[in-house]
This record gives sequence, structure tokens and C-alpha cells, in this order.
Amino acid sequence: MVCHLGLGANVGYPAYQLAAAIAALAASPEMSLHRISSVYLTKPAGFTDQPSFLNMAVAIKTDLRPSELLHITANIESDLGRERTIKDGPRTIDIDILVCGEITCERAELTVPHPRMRERQFVLTPLSEIAPGLVLPDGCAVAELVADDCREVRRLGRLAALVRAGRFAPEVCADAE
Ligand code: ADP
Ligand code: MG
Repeated sequence: MVCHLGLGANVGYPAYQLAAAIAALAASPEMSLHRISSVYLTKPAGFTDQPSFLNMAVAIKTDLRPSELLHITANIESDLGRERTIKDGPRTIDIDILVCGEITCERAELTVPHPRMRERQFVLTPLSEIAPGLVLPDGCAVAELVADDCREVRRLGRLAALVRAGRFAPEVCADAE
């Protein structure tokens, strides 16, 4: 089964944390990496007094149940120093489970497909790069949900190139263009 994950980071060394999270996913024996999007620079939404985010989407192949996958992604978040303080606030790494094959579940601790992904261009834009034809339960394909005029989410490039250039922080990534 292919599962799609949304990743975001805006404090510490965001590009490093994205790379470390993806490396940790790749190192999990129960899954393999399938696709990795480019990195996108996003202005913060909700709580706006915080640095810009780097966002990505990743597709993995796994036979894990979504709850088992959440356990692994939550451990990776805490290993990378994730603390939960302000809602929509700064985070060293956020890993959201967006879609898990055809599986749906609706519990507070895990809702799949992710209930807010449809409204989040910072999720849809990278996801559309790796899975434009992915159809959500309402019948819409991801590519159809990406706004043409979205100025909040800007493609920066491949993660490996940012890391190689030592551009770990969103401001530096943006300035270096
Ligand atoms: P958010 O990602 O919405 O900013 P958090 O990362 O702090 O918020 O997650 C809060 C809780 O959301 C987690 O403890 C997790 O149990 C729950 N959750 C529910 N559905 C999902 C999902 N699809 N992916 C990741 N976490 C989820
Ligand atoms: Mg989250």
C-alpha cells in the first residue's frame, strides 16, 4: 500500500530536520520510500508571528496499519525534538499522515485521510507534485485542488540541493534564490 505523508518544519534547522525525518522513515524496516517532493517555502497560516515553513510530501510503501505508522512518525518527531505548545505554532518537525491507500479512519488520535489537508495549499502543492492523480474520498484529484494563484507556497528546489548548499533555514533558502 502507498501512504502519503506531509512534512513541515520552521524552527531549528528545518532542511536538516526534513532530511533527518526522511532518513528515519527510510531506515524503518517496515517501509520503503517511494516518492519525495521538492521543498516548498510557506508563509505561516493561523498563528502568523513565526518563521516561514519548509514543507514537503513523501510517498512510502508499507503494509503497516495507519496507527502503527503514526506510532513511528510520532517517535521520529520526538527524536527530532518536537514539542507541542501553540496550536499551528512553531515546530522542529511535523509529520502528518495524509492518505493511506484506501483506508479511512476517524478517531481523535488518527483521522485518515487527514481532515484539514483539503484546505491547506502547503500540503496539496507538494502532494500534487508526487501524486497529482491521487483521488480523495470526495472524488477530487489532488491536482484539481491546487490553487493556480497560490502565492503562499513557493517551490524552492530539491532537499538534497538545499542541504548540500548548507541552506537549512527557510530565510536562507529564500534569499539564496
Ligand atoms: P497538526 O499536525 O494538526 O498541526 P499535531 O502535529 O500537533 O497537529 O498533531 C496533533 C495530533 O493529531 C497528534 O497527536 C495525532 O494523534 C493527531 N492526528 C490525527 N490525525 C492525524 C493524522 N492523519 N496524521 C498525524 N496526526 C494525526
Ligand atoms: Mg501533525
